[in-house]
Amino acid sequence: MENVAEMSAYKRGSNNASDFFKMNRGAFANTLREWGERLPVQQWTSFSSTTVRPTLVLMHAAALSAFFFRPTLRDLVLFAGFYLATGFGITIGFHRLLAHRGFECSRALTYSLAFLGAAALQGGPVWWVGVHRKHHQTADREGDPHSPVKNFLHGHLGWMFKKEGFAQHPALSRDLATDKFLMWLDRGPRSAIPWLSTALLCFMLGGMSGLIWGAAVRTVFVWHATWCVNSVCHRFGQRPHDTRESSGNVWWVGLWALGEGWHNNHHANPRAALHNYHWWEIDLSGYTLRLLERTRLIHKVIRAGRQKTGARA
Ligand SMILES: [Zn+2]
Ligand SMILES: [Zn+2]
Repeated sequence: MENVAEMSAYKRGSNNASDFFKMNRGAFANTLREWGERLPVQQWTSFSSTTVRPTLVLMHAAALSAFFFRPTLRDLVLFAGFYLATGFGITIGFHRLLAHRGFECSRALTYSLAFLGAAALQGGPVWWVGVHRKHHQTADREGDPHSPVKNFLHGHLGWMFKKEGFAQHPALSRDLATDKFLMWLDRGPRSAIPWLSTALLCFMLGGMSGLIWGAAVRTVFVWHATWCVNSVCHRFGQRPHDTRESSGNVWWVGLWALGEGWHNNHHANPRAALHNYHWWEIDLSGYTLRLLERTRLIHKVIRAGRQKTGARA
């Protein structure tokens, strides 16, 4: 209560929102100006403390408002459609293609998958891949960006609230940094365009409830699916492969995260694009890749059997 006007309003018992905004107009303007000045400087990444923390908080708040919007069938279709599209953008695009080069495909398909991955609002492809390769390099040891071994919440989302969480790993994503389109998706405020375009589409097709379910709730569900792979799958689950970190196979994360929950399988054979070893290990991303392979849209799909179990990269 440093502001005198604010103090007197408080004493009067004023709870008028416009009074509050009038009193704090200067402070709001300064904050906005500071954000504006800082954004262009962040040429290196879409993922920075300035943008990510408020986005995380606001998106969860928007998703919680879904309790006031009973979903129509159209809202649920928007939710499921964008959940699968942006979820596969992360699992097939960012993870199995860009980070691990588990298969090959045309430039058009690569860019489409990268765009969908960026629409999941988990940072741009170059930054995401750098962090993920760092995770494989140092999994559950010093330097792992999001190990949950000492602190479960840190591994789930806490790491994004710490300064080290925004570290760059340019040496680990150099192969992608030469690509103009991927860099375009990765840098500055424009990296929000993929997500904003999905949100706009949801609003046009379903109004406010379409926006809440197809954009906010969907984004939060995809976030926690990815985060569960980082947290739950490094603390729990079965370990059929004796890998050096504590990764585990967790069936329900496998279902939720479109196949990424078979995480011990993945750490044992990181380059394999198909994560299941048995028919009962449901890997929706792997099934989609098989379909794309049959239709010749992708090729050179790396199978686990072709790589030595326990590979480190
Ligand atoms: Zn892992
Ligand atoms: Zn990986």
